[in-house]
Amino acid sequence: MASLSLKGIEKVYPNGFVAVKDFNLDIDDKEFIIFVGPSGCGKSTTLRMVAGLEEISGGTLEIDGKTMNNVEPKDRDIAMVFQNYALYPHMTVYDNMAFGLKLRKVPKDEIDKMVREAARILDLDKLLDRKPKALSGGQRQRVAMGRAIVRNPKVFLMDEPLSNLDAKLRVQMRIEISKLHERLGATIIYVTHDQTEAMTLGTRIVVMKDGLVQQVDSPQNLYNNP
Ligand code: ADP
Ligand code: ADP
Repeated sequence: MASLSLKGIEKVYPNGFVAVKDFNLDIDDKEFIIFVGPSGCGKSTTLRMVAGLEEISGGTLEIDGKTMNNVEPKDRDIAMVFQNYALYPHMTVYDNMAFGLKLRKVPKDEIDKMVREAARILDLDKLLDRKPKALSGGQRQRVAMGRAIVRNPKVFLMDEPLSNLDAKLRVQMRIEISKLHERLGATIIYVTHDQTEAMTLGTRIVVMKDGLVQQVDSPQNLYNNP
């Protein structure tokens, strides 16, 4: 459904700072790619370029063989989940998930079907009428995921989606994300600092440092022979 190819991707910020240098990676359909590396090494910048939220300074981004460099974010078929999942506080869970679809003028009955399907997958069925302040951290994080899922994207980008959760919830959500990956059959790029998350979720791990890819390997190879 979605393979990605990053060919010599580069990011030079307007102040001249080179945040990503010659990033090369071919990602297969349904892969779960993990980006790790010290703070400031260029993980988020790379993710934001793939999402189209940050201009690509050099190189080519392809999705399913099509060059995407100048394609608008909304036309990329990509959804992003951030660590600071900003839900709309005055809206119910249902409306939070439906909002993006409403903006895009998707017919009401279709929105209803998509929201209920996402709620079922994420086990939010019984919480649809609640407002965010009446939810736990994990439930809120699931609603944020739900907002991404209803778009039915081919590619998910997740930037430390669990880093604001306590340890117990993190383990629970990790298992849910793994199930979600299987059920949705989506291609995922996931940024984390957590070695256990990287090990258990990733099909391959990309290690970055100072804007450069240092190593790309399976979790087994990486952590057995670092
Ligand atoms: P990571 O996600 O790995 O922590 P980032 O991609 O957020 O790293 O940042 C990579 C580098 O680019 C950092 O040194 C950061 O300070 C710098 N950076 C990020 N945004 C900008 C910007 N708008 N202008 C200049 N430098 C930036
Ligand atoms: P949401 O759809 O999460 O409720 P908005 O309604 O503000 O957010 O979305 C407006 C547009 O912004 C969307 O059509 C889409 O192009 C882009 N967008 C919103 N959320 C995301 C996301 N999680 N990942 C990528 N693009 C997004």
